[in-house]
Amino acid sequence: MSQASEQAVLDAVPDGLLVGGGWRPAASGRTFDVHDPATGAVIRTVADGGVEDGAAALDAAVEAGPAWARTAPRVRGEVLRRAFDLLQQRRDDVALLMTLEMGKPLAESQAEVTYGGEFLRWFSEEAVRVAGRYGTNPEGTGRMTVSQHPVGPCYLITPWNFPLAMATRKIAPALTAGCTAVVKPAELTPLTTLYVAELLREAGLPDGVLNVVTTSTAGDVSGPVIADPRLRKLSFTGSTPVGKQLLKQAADGVLRTSMELGGNAPFLVFEDADLDAAVAGAMLAKFRNVGQACTAANRFLVHERVAEEFAARVTAEVRGFPVGRGTEEGVRIGPLIDDRAVRKAEDLVGDAVGRGAEVLTGGARVEREGTFYAGTVVTGVRPGSEILRQEIFGPVLSISTFGDEDEAVALANDTEYGLVSYAFTRDADRGQRLVDRLETGMMGLNVGVISNAGAPFGGVKQSGIGREGGLEGIHEYLSTKYTLTPDPYR
Ligand code: NAP
Repeated sequence: MSQASEQAVLDAVPDGLLVGGGWRPAASGRTFDVHDPATGAVIRTVADGGVEDGAAALDAAVEAGPAWARTAPRVRGEVLRRAFDLLQQRRDDVALLMTLEMGKPLAESQAEVTYGGEFLRWFSEEAVRVAGRYGTNPEGTGRMTVSQHPVGPCYLITPWNFPLAMATRKIAPALTAGCTAVVKPAELTPLTTLYVAELLREAGLPDGVLNVVTTSTAGDVSGPVIADPRLRKLSFTGSTPVGKQLLKQAADGVLRTSMELGGNAPFLVFEDADLDAAVAGAMLAKFRNVGQACTAANRFLVHERVAEEFAARVTAEVRGFPVGRGTEEGVRIGPLIDDRAVRKAEDLVGDAVGRGAEVLTGGARVEREGTFYAGTVVTGVRPGSEILRQEIFGPVLSISTFGDEDEAVALANDTEYGLVSYAFTRDADRGQRLVDRLETGMMGLNVGVISNAGAPFGGVKQSGIGREGGLEGIHEYLSTKYTLTPDPYR
């Protein structure tokens, strides 16, 4: 990719905060820098919104609310569909932009354009399918109508790891449902959201329906927005500790909340698994996004009879992964988002090794400019190791063993998280038992990637509340109203 096209893509990102349909600087005039994690270089500056800007954005969302709620569902859906089409036309630019600000290999950014774009298309189709209910009450004295209504102004907070998909997974259902919104992207990756917001404007989104506040002071800006009595809904994707803090803040206003939080996914390989499929699934479940996904397999739990072969086969794959800047052809291991992420991988692997685990490949930072950690396989990981407890969020595949199904299930469920689990077995009955027994909101049975716009994405336990995508996704932004009228014959 030439430097000229990189610059052109960066230059195409609008300048400022989107408030009430116009791009404007932060009230303070301040900006902050966005870096390329592969080089550390500053690639853009963006407006650094403050409390005043958060308030102005919410004002705009509140003002635009009634007209957007009354806009025909077909019209709302068509705006999103046009945005989907525009995104396809500009998919190379958006993919490059994501790689520049977040670091993931270009092929993965392309895959994210597909995945993230699907939320625009899926919810454009859902716009006209919001249904209610009508019936006679059990006593026969009245008619009951159940109808669905937009929740109202929403505040959407997104993380850095999927800059496009995490934004569209919230924006698309919110707007489809007839809600207006303020979106606050992560400080590390604000550019893709700014680009997509402009694309939605170009697709015909009326002023004020979507507002974007970029900021380096997320807590300061968000507190007053969440405390504002006009806000009706908070949707957050990010870490569990921040999610808990936001839930407490949201409690004061009894806000509707959706929480897509952290994970600690178990990846079970049984003795009867198709090992070819399990290895292929492991590469996807672990190394997609360089391991920086809430759905990333965090704990490989492998039956003791096949553990050695599985470890040898995944090691052979990982050893061959090309490392480099995400823009380079064929790269599998791009940079981690920042130096803190590299240090975390170092600490977790160091702790596991200190407790008796063995590094089969990798196991160290890559000595080059940027924030790289080598593709790593560590085996013989002992109970009590931190790597089994914390989200790794890096390209480290950690293997422990189990002896039977009960032990596998007990180990898999031994975490406060419950986002996704993966299991590889040829035994269909066992597969069904695992669906019942694994305490997660999602499961990949003999597959390594489960994300899909048509599916309800979300977790149980401390991985979250609510679902994004699927038939369920739009209901996060609708409230149910029941109306009773007298029976017309009495
Ligand atoms: P994070 O630190 O929790 O940040 C997420 C978002 O919250 C960012 O926009 C951040 O802004 C903002 N934020 C931080 N503190 C805040 C506060 N006090 N008030 C309001 N907003 C605040 O998480 P992250 O490191 O960006 O993302 C990684 C985490 O997200 C992992 O735990 C991962 O598992 C989880 N995740 C979950 C899902 C899912 O669907 N379940 C999907 C993707 C990621 P700043 O960037 O400005 O700090």
